[in-house]
Amino acid sequence: MQVLTRIKSAERYLRERFEEIDEIAFSNQVKVLEAFKQEHIQDYHFNQTSGYGYGDSGRDALEAVYSQVFAGEDALVRSQIVSGTHAITACLMGLLQAGDSLVSVSGSPYDTLRTVIGWPVPQKGSLTERGVCYGEIALDDHLGPDYQAIARELPPSCKMAMIQRSRGYSLRPALNIDDLRRLCQAIRYRAPGTIIFIDNCYGEFTDLYEPLEIGADLIAGSLIKNPGGGLAPSGGYIVGRQELVESAAFHLTAPGLGKELGASLINNRLFFQGLFLAPHVTAQAMKIAVLFAYLFTELGYETYPRWNESRGDIVQAVCLANEDEVQRFCQHLQSNSPVGSRVHLEYAPMPGYDSQIIMAAGTFVQGSSIELSCDAPLRSPYCVYMQGGLSYEHGRYVACKLLENWY
Ligand SMILES: *Cc1c(COP(=O)(O)O)cnc(C)c1O
Repeated sequence: MQVLTRIKSAERYLRERFEEIDEIAFSNQVKVLEAFKQEHIQDYHFNQTSGYGYGDSGRDALEAVYSQVFAGEDALVRSQIVSGTHAITACLMGLLQAGDSLVSVSGSPYDTLRTVIGWPVPQKGSLTERGVCYGEIALDDHLGPDYQAIARELPPSCKMAMIQRSRGYSLRPALNIDDLRRLCQAIRYRAPGTIIFIDNCYGEFTDLYEPLEIGADLIAGSLIKNPGGGLAPSGGYIVGRQELVESAAFHLTAPGLGKELGASLINNRLFFQGLFLAPHVTAQAMKIAVLFAYLFTELGYETYPRWNESRGDIVQAVCLANEDEVQRFCQHLQSNSPVGSRVHLEYAPMPGYDSQIIMAAGTFVQGSSIELSCDAPLRSPYCVYMQGGLSYEHGRYVACKLLENWY
């Protein structure tokens, strides 16, 4: 119980941070509710459909709600999108032709996307294999966007500039909405015709605005992260300018078919109700992240972001001393999860990733990272990346168990 006293004192210290997070959740809850009201969501929208899925009104209403919440002209929200990587891939493959250039302006992208791009290692079926030219603009010395390099080096003829909002498995900070606004301005200034595409994974509802409100053209993400609210059993989304969403849909289904096909095989209630809960659940995850950052700073570890820094995603990196501590941290998280608490964790190779990974995911939805989970690649520095948590209380409980057993 001594640890609970310690956690309570941390919480007194964190009160203002928690209040800021609650205000963001409130603002996003208003956006979501207004979209539900605007689209007259009714219980018949929850019905499953089969076959081609022509005229699936639940699916169409869900996409209209997503368009409004994320401030796009159109959206694609489907259980047939198998992951965030798949949603992003549909955007890249749907929009980029041989000879086009794609530039990542936030340094190297997330592990699985390097495979999709076919960079730095060639990959069958990748963008570079299809003749797309890929380049990246490295981050500056503080691991933030290098605005000067963008102003100097971004080719004005670039077809698409890609930005990753979240830190992913790296120690660079997530981009908050002010960074994203400034980045969009810098890109527009240098290459007015370029498509600004944002990998929005883990960033949804962490701030007062979403990327399409501050200058981006297209965003994509996973439904087993923030916007699924923990209820979506699978899926991904794409939102943005109408003709861009159409091109992504042509890649996802077939040219000419696009968004018109694709039955709601899963009860749509889970997507609607998940989105309804998402601002609150994202706030729970952010509070857990802040609590862990605070407690592990007290224990003498480096944390990214620090508990009092701004957040553009739900990911919390905690840098531990070695491989062994990483394994212990992940195992405690797993052993105090609602599902699979007896699972013994080990490092293993994962499709799409180049390092071996250890993953704690005692989750109801397999691999869901809006549920309390953590991952660590087997490489130095030995950091765990934790994220999610459907309830703050669960995070608090895991924090108790970790502190009790840490030394
Ligand atoms: C999670 C994530 C993705 C996509 O990962 P999936 O596991 O395919 O859903 C892409 N980019 C970032 C930054 C992510 O966090």
